[in-house]
Amino acid sequence: MEAEYKKLLNHFEAIVNASDDAIISKTLGGVVLTWNKAAERIFGYTAQEMVGESILKLFPEHLLDEEEKIITKILNGQRVEHHETIRLHKDGSHIHISVSISPIHNADGELVGLSKVARDVSEEVMLRALNSRLGNYAKYFEAIVDASDDAIISKTLDGVITSWNPAAERIFGYSANEMIGQTLERLLPDNRSQEEKNILTKIAHGEKIDHFRTVRLHKNGSKIDVSVTVSPIMSEEDGIIGVSKIARDITAEVKSERKIWQQANFDQLTNLPNRRLLNDRLNHEIIKSIRENGNIATFFIDLDNFKEINDLLGHDSGDELLVQASARFSQCIRKSDTLSRLGGDEFVVVITDASDLENVNTIAETLVESLRSPFYIGGKQVHVTCSLGVSIFPEHGRTVDDLLKHADQAMYESKKYGKNQCRFFNYDLESSLIQHSYIAFDIRSAVKLNQLEVYYQPIICAKTDTIVKTEALVRWNHPIKGIISPDVFIPIAEETGLIHEIGNWVFDQATSQLKKWQEKYNPDLQMSINKSVIQFHADDCAEVTLIEKLKAVGIEGRSIIIEITESALMNHTQASVAKLFSFRDHGIHIAIDDFGTGYSSLSYLNKFDIDYLKIDRSFINNLTENTSQFALCEAIVMMAHKLGLKVIAEGVETSIQRELLTEMGCDYLQGYLFTKPIPAQAFEALIEHSELELS
Ligand code: C2E
Ligand code: CA
Ligand code: CA
Repeated sequence: MEAEYKKLLNHFEAIVNASDDAIISKTLGGVVLTWNKAAERIFGYTAQEMVGESILKLFPEHLLDEEEKIITKILNGQRVEHHETIRLHKDGSHIHISVSISPIHNADGELVGLSKVARDVSEEVMLRALNSRLGNYAKYFEAIVDASDDAIISKTLDGVITSWNPAAERIFGYSANEMIGQTLERLLPDNRSQEEKNILTKIAHGEKIDHFRTVRLHKNGSKIDVSVTVSPIMSEEDGIIGVSKIARDITAEVKSERKIWQQANFDQLTNLPNRRLLNDRLNHEIIKSIRENGNIATFFIDLDNFKEINDLLGHDSGDELLVQASARFSQCIRKSDTLSRLGGDEFVVVITDASDLENVNTIAETLVESLRSPFYIGGKQVHVTCSLGVSIFPEHGRTVDDLLKHADQAMYESKKYGKNQCRFFNYDLESSLIQHSYIAFDIRSAVKLNQLEVYYQPIICAKTDTIVKTEALVRWNHPIKGIISPDVFIPIAEETGLIHEIGNWVFDQATSQLKKWQEKYNPDLQMSINKSVIQFHADDCAEVTLIEKLKAVGIEGRSIIIEITESALMNHTQASVAKLFSFRDHGIHIAIDDFGTGYSSLSYLNKFDIDYLKIDRSFINNLTENTSQFALCEAIVMMAHKLGLKVIAEGVETSIQRELLTEMGCDYLQGYLFTKPIPAQAFEALIEHSELELS
């Protein structure tokens, strides 16, 4: 029996030791009775170390009463379910175990101990804890994503939407149901902006995160400004598996940004760029022009009588006038030019590509002219003019401030000169081209503003010492620059075509003056009038016109000498030859001015039935006996006489010159020796009070 029992016991022991679970038995007092192999493995103590020792060694402090509770339960006849608990390993670490407990009774059925089967479930517990934590995270995330004001969207790399939060529903109008499984295509107003494409490429290449602003379409078709943050969704095994996007609706911000920008840079009344934007643009153009060697014209415009209109009609009408005037100005310039309002009635225009100054002139004049026709404001007709000043980059300044300042100064000149006109800035006129342009401007107003005057210089008969003729010479009374010589402005008047207007005006002045003098002093007095080559060839110098004019004034043709230069004959046409003969037929005399400086021969002149030669004053200037000038003058006089022409010497300054010329037979003398060209009144005083007499 005993042998049988022993065998059985060994058998049990073998099973117990083969078990993966710790199998332990102990007394009610907690003294360990048996300790199998698995218990050694799990708890780190050998059977030798544990048998006879208290099991409480394995209990962490907070669980020390656990054992007692279990025994109480068992003594009370309650079942003890298998449960999870914690024990201490020999090395002090915690071990999670799952234990099942069964009571050990003696032969009398008394409870004497407990047997425990414990499994190490540490790994399982950890895994469970991890899972539960992850589960919680997912819940947190979900809560955050749902609560967000920003649209939070995730997509696969193919662009298929995998999540779509409530804010996305609000912002874009599409529900998650409508969007998940779809692409973002329907939100795109047109093609993706290049910026966005670049960002998505970057993300696909593993870059972390990026922001951009773009426009998206709401389901209802309206546009939404969004600020988007993109980041890749990574998985440890597969790398980038998708993209997440956080989009914030910034429509309101963008709108107010735009409004602020608009207010900061534009004039509220006219919607034109204000001073600030003008500065920016002009500065920008200066930088560009420096690089490209270009020119910029800056026009400063100021309405002339705006204050009066404002006072008279009230501010609302004044505002309306400014709006209408700015609309007219903007019609005069290209889109690439800038028209801005500085405030009040001041406007500035910036013209780019302004290398053609004639063109700049034209634009400036067009701007002034654009106000010519009346405005209609509140049913009333209103007239307003403007004064304009021009400065040119780089001649008149290389900075915004200088260009504006100088254009402003030029504008004030326009005001001073009588308003309703344009004027170039004129300091440091290095560029003759610019000087040329501003003279061209000035001449135009000179004619309009009656700044021209005819001076007269007597022509003396050498034999009788009496005044027989007078030459009409135009002068320009410039209110600032004083009297300007025709040598300066006639060539420009010729180029700009204003010579016709000036020539006709001089002709009218000189002939009506002659009429008075003929009546007052001598009916034989002759008037010599200069005609530019250009005018001579033009229709307004047609003999019919001149002769009719003379008739109207009551002067005969023989009272008039037309002075033309040799070049007028050199380039003669059939028409001009016919004109000459027609003059002759009507008794009008022809003089060749500045003779000797051109190339015509005397015999050539004979063909055209010329009456006078005026020896150029460069020959008279240095005239003394036995000089080449003397020989030349003598030859001219001799030849002219042979051909039936009379000779006038101009520029006679000394009495020696006068004697020599008289001796060689020169018919008429003109020059400072007698008098400089003088105004009509002074001419009368000369006749009335000096020894010089009319013949
Ligand atoms: P021009 O026809 O040869 O006129 C004579 C110029 O010689 C005048 O200059 C006159 O003031 C100047 N002069 C006269 N006597 C003397 C003298 O003794 N010494 C010196 N150094 N100069 C003297 P001005 O008035 O300045 O006129 C210059 C030119 O302008 C004129 O030369 C003429 O070609 C042109 N011009 C003047 N008035 C008219 C005009 O009404 N129509 C046109 N087409 N040309 C005009
Ligand atoms: Ca002359
Ligand atoms: Ca001359």
